[in-house]
Amino acid sequence: MALDPRLTATLVCPLCKGAIVWDADNSVLVCPRCKLAFEVKDNIPNMIAEEAKPLSDEQAREYAKRLSMVRGA
Ligand SMILES: [Zn+2]
Repeated sequence: MALDPRLTATLVCPLCKGAIVWDADNSVLVCPRCKLAFEVKDNIPNMIAEEAKPLSDEQAREYAKRLSMVRGA
């Protein structure tokens, strides 16, 4: 599924306002800090925190790594 990279660049986590990671394999946008995965359906991200899926600590760590790679940190 294609999601406009410019769109994901402008999206932030609704809770912490931090950067989020686009996981194309699972069609989710992930906030490693809040440990939440926001589902994307029909190219529309569902950024409602109450409907996001919680991540395990391990998953959150993996996504945090990806985030630092994207940002070149
Ligand atoms: Zn967050």
